[in-house]
Amino acid sequence: VVAETPVPLPEPVATSHIKISSRDRVIYPEAGLTKGQLADYYAAVAPIALRWLGNRPISLVRCPQGRAKQCFFQKHDAGSFGDDVHHVDVREKDGSTEPYLYIDSLDGMLACVQMGTIEFHGWGSLVADIEKPDRLVFDLDPDEGLDFEAVKKAAADLKDHLADMGLTSWPLLSGGKGVHVVVPLVPRVEWPEVRSFAERFARALAQAEPDRFTANLKKASRTGKIFIDYLRNQRGATAVLPYVARAREGAPVAAPVTWTELRTIDSAKLYSIRDAATLIERAQSRALQGWGEAAQALPDV
Ligand code: ATP
Ligand code: MN
Ligand code: MN
Repeated sequence: VVAETPVPLPEPVATSHIKISSRDRVIYPEAGLTKGQLADYYAAVAPIALRWLGNRPISLVRCPQGRAKQCFFQKHDAGSFGDDVHHVDVREKDGSTEPYLYIDSLDGMLACVQMGTIEFHGWGSLVADIEKPDRLVFDLDPDEGLDFEAVKKAAADLKDHLADMGLTSWPLLSGGKGVHVVVPLVPRVEWPEVRSFAERFARALAQAEPDRFTANLKKASRTGKIFIDYLRNQRGATAVLPYVARAREGAPVAAPVTWTELRTIDSAKLYSIRDAATLIERAQSRALQGWGEAAQALPDV
């Protein structure tokens, strides 16, 4: 029996000067969960979430009237979030520059929640070095008929293929239907190279097992298969970040798990915003130490 070594606790929940209005507004009608409860969830997990959410361009899914009403995806800073939500100027394809959002604090997170944000999605690069991704994400999207078993098996296969190339990866339950396979990178090469690697990797898998996988974006080619969405790895694309609440039924959250755990998990919606304490405890557990971390670069292929 190996003795458990204590893992350092995250910083205690900091207080915030952000005032959440309409705390009693129900934003998850099927679960009866309110804006105040969402804010409390984010305040509780901020110490573990900011490690992923902080200091990278983000897009927000805002649902001011709750998840069952109209939601919209917001990429740019309209200047309405206050001083705790920052912006970074990003050059667009047409040569213009747009202010993208980023946050680096609990106050920033809550300022977004106050404005009706439920979900936070992140670029694969940090504000400090926007052109050089610090991670790859393979977003596994099962076709309607496929169960979570198929998704799990696909994720584990991706892990093995990545490991064959010397790359360590981790599974993230999306809080929806799929699993994201996250591959940390030292930010060294730029987007085109990373995207090219991701695309070639996805296409090679689809070619090797065309009955299980497709790398083709077209819905029609996905029947009965898992779409390996490598397009999360192009400049400007985003993916949901760890501990983010989803604007979906039951208030599920995106949650890091281990490869071993994934084998016995039967849903991508295992955790919800009711599980802040569990998620914090898990983040401190030995099993999840080092999740999403590896000093590694893409192989030359
Ligand atoms: P699921 O497991 O149910 O597929 P998901 O988060 O992977 O959940 P996807 O629909 O596969 O959802 O989307 C993958 C990512 O693409 C999202 O996490 C998000 O960052 C991005 N995305 C989704 N919808 C939009 C949109 N309307 N505009 C911009 N980006 C989007
Ligand atoms: Mn997906
Ligand atoms: Mn997708």
